[in-house]
Amino acid sequence: HASRSSHGIFLPHLVASLEQVQQTYIMVKPDGVQRGLEHYKDLKAKPFYPKLIDYITSGPVVCMAWEGVGVVLSARKLIGSTDPLQAEPGTIRGDLAVQTGRNVVHGSDSPENGKRETALWFKEGELCQWTPAQAPWLQE
Ligand code: ADP
Repeated sequence: HASRSSHGIFLPHLVASLEQVQQTYIMVKPDGVQRGLEHYKDLKAKPFYPKLIDYITSGPVVCMAWEGVGVVLSARKLIGSTDPLQAEPGTIRGDLAVQTGRNVVHGSDSPENGKRETALWFKEGELCQWTPAQAPWLQE
């Protein structure tokens, strides 16, 4: 659907949700660690799916769950566009990645997927919930 703009980070519905406290699932993909899961089941019909699964199960990944106001979109901005050639300098993919098939990091594309993917990769009790002392200085 519209939000799955293949190479965009500026998913329109995310802009509308900037006021919500959200969870987003962030992952450093295997190439990010060294230079599977059915996480990508919604992409099953894509021609690159088999290669994507080989890639994502090719080595350890680093999993993170971030929480904060508008964090889904702010994480996507930090990560940059899916295609590293379209990603701005200063973004993780823009600075560090070369090809879409090796784009270093993942970030959920909607608050719903943020919740779903966080639950897929973390058991209850594995997430550490805390409030940094500086939180009121970062967010109203
Ligand atoms: P994003 O990760 O930016 O949300 P998508 O959900 O569209 O992007 O795609 C998921 C992942 O599938 C991408 O990050 C990339 O690793 C891989 N991928 C997407 N499109 C292609 C493609 N055309 N060729 C190879 N791999 C792709």
